[in-house]
Amino acid sequence: MNNPTNSKNPADVVVIGAGIVGLAHAALAVGRGLTVTVIERDDRAVGASIRNFGHCCITAQSGELYDLAQSSRGHWLYFAERAGFWASEAGALVVARNDVELQVLRELAGRREAGQVTVLRAEETTAQLRTAQGTPDPAILGGAMLRDDLRVDPRTTVGKLAAWLQEQGVDFLWRTSAVGFDDGAVHTNRGTVYGRRTIVCVGHDVDYLFPSVSKEHIVERCTLQMSRAAQPAGLTLGPAVLTATSMLRYDAFTEMPSAIELSRTVDSGLQAIGANVMFTQHPDGSLILGDSHTYQHTAAPFLSENTTDLINAEIGALLGMPLEITERWQGIYASSPNGPLLVKEVQPGVTAVSVTSGVGMTVSFGLAERTLNSLFESVHSHRGSS
Ligand SMILES: Cc1cc2nc3c(=O)[nH]c(=O)nc-3n(C[C@H](O)[C@H](O)[C@H](O)COP(=O)(O)OP(=O)(O)OC[C@H]3O[C@@H](n4cnc5c(N)ncnc54)[C@H](O)[C@@H]3O)c2cc1C
Repeated sequence: MNNPTNSKNPADVVVIGAGIVGLAHAALAVGRGLTVTVIERDDRAVGASIRNFGHCCITAQSGELYDLAQSSRGHWLYFAERAGFWASEAGALVVARNDVELQVLRELAGRREAGQVTVLRAEETTAQLRTAQGTPDPAILGGAMLRDDLRVDPRTTVGKLAAWLQEQGVDFLWRTSAVGFDDGAVHTNRGTVYGRRTIVCVGHDVDYLFPSVSKEHIVERCTLQMSRAAQPAGLTLGPAVLTATSMLRYDAFTEMPSAIELSRTVDSGLQAIGANVMFTQHPDGSLILGDSHTYQHTAAPFLSENTTDLINAEIGALLGMPLEITERWQGIYASSPNGPLLVKEVQPGVTAVSVTSGVGMTVSFGLAERTLNSLFESVHSHRGSS
C-alpha cells in the first residue's frame, strides 16, 4: 500500500513493530475482539526475535519477570497450536561442573515447588549430551532440569504468527516506517494511519522515536555474537542447555546463597566477554550457539573471532567433540541498567513497550496481556492453555 489511510475506519489498536513483542500485543488484542493494524518497516521481521535461541527461559526468572514469563507460557502453547509454529515443552538442562554450581542448583530446587527444578546426577546429565563422536565433559558433576521452559524455532515463529494473524483479520503494513505520533494518528513514511491506541514495540530502536524517554530509562544496545553448528551426529536434544555462565546472568540463580562463589569459579575469559554459554537444537538438528554481551548506545558491527572461538570451544568441550560452524551473526536487543522493562505512555494515546533485557521471548505474551489489561480493562481476554 503506497499511501495507507484508514481515516474513516480507525483501528482499535495500531502496533508498531512485527517482532515478538509487537505480535504478542496484536495477537492478544485481536483475541479480545479489537481491530488491529501492525506497521513494520521491513518486509518481514529480522530483528532480535529471529536472531535468538528461541528459548523461553521461564524458570530462571524471578519476581515480576517470573510472573510475566509464567503468564506467557500458556499463550505460547495456545498460539503455537493455532498459528502452526513449532514449540516444545522440553524444559532446560543446566550443567554443573563443580560443587559450587551444583549447590546453586540444589538451592534453587529447594526454593521452587516440587518438580519444577529437578537436580540430576552426572550420568543423567551426560546422557542428554551424548553424540556419536564424543564423550561429554568428564568434569560434569550433575545438573538440573528446569521443567517449565519452552523452546520455539526463532527463525520461523514470528513469520508464522504474523501470517496467521493476517488470516484473523489483522492488517499488516510492511515496508512502512512510523515516524511520528499524534493522539489517534500514526504518521508513517507512506501516509497516516489512524487508531484509538498506539502501542510502539520497536525493541532497541525505541530511542530513534522517543529519545528523551529512552535517555531517561538509559536504553542501550546489547550486542551478542551467535553461531550455528551442523548437527553433531547422534545428538538429539530436547531441552535448551545452559551452563554456569548462565547462572551468573539470571536472577533465579544469582539470588541463591552460593551464587556469590560463582564469579570465582567461572572461567575469567568467558566472564570478560559477558558470556552466557548455552545452546539449543533447531528442528533441523543444527545447534544455535551463543552468546556474548557488549553494551553500547550505538552497536559496533564487528564480530570478534576470539569471542566466537571461546564460546564454541566451551560448547565443544562440553559435548566432547569439535563443532562445524556453518553461520555467524550478531544479535541486538535493548538493555538498561534501570530495569528490564520500558513501558510508558509517551504521549496521549501512545504507549511504548520495550523489553530492556534479554528476555523478550520469555515475557512477550505476559507483558502484552498486562499492557492490554491496563489500556482496555473492560474488554474480555482469551486465556492461554495454562
Ligand atoms: C542473540 C540474542 C539472543 C537472545 N536470547 C533470548 C532468549 O534465549 N530468550 C529470550 O526470552 N529472549 C532472548 N533474547 C531477547 C529477545 O530476542 C528480545 O527481547 C525480543 O526478541 C525483542 O522483541 P521485539 O519485538 O521488542 O524486538 P524486535 O524483534 O527487534 O522487533 C522490533 C521490530 O520493530 C521494527 N521497527 C523498528 N522501528 C520501526 C519503525 N519506526 N516503524 C516500523 N517498524 C519499526 C523492526 O524492524 C523490528 O522488526 C535474545 C536476543 C538476542 C539478540
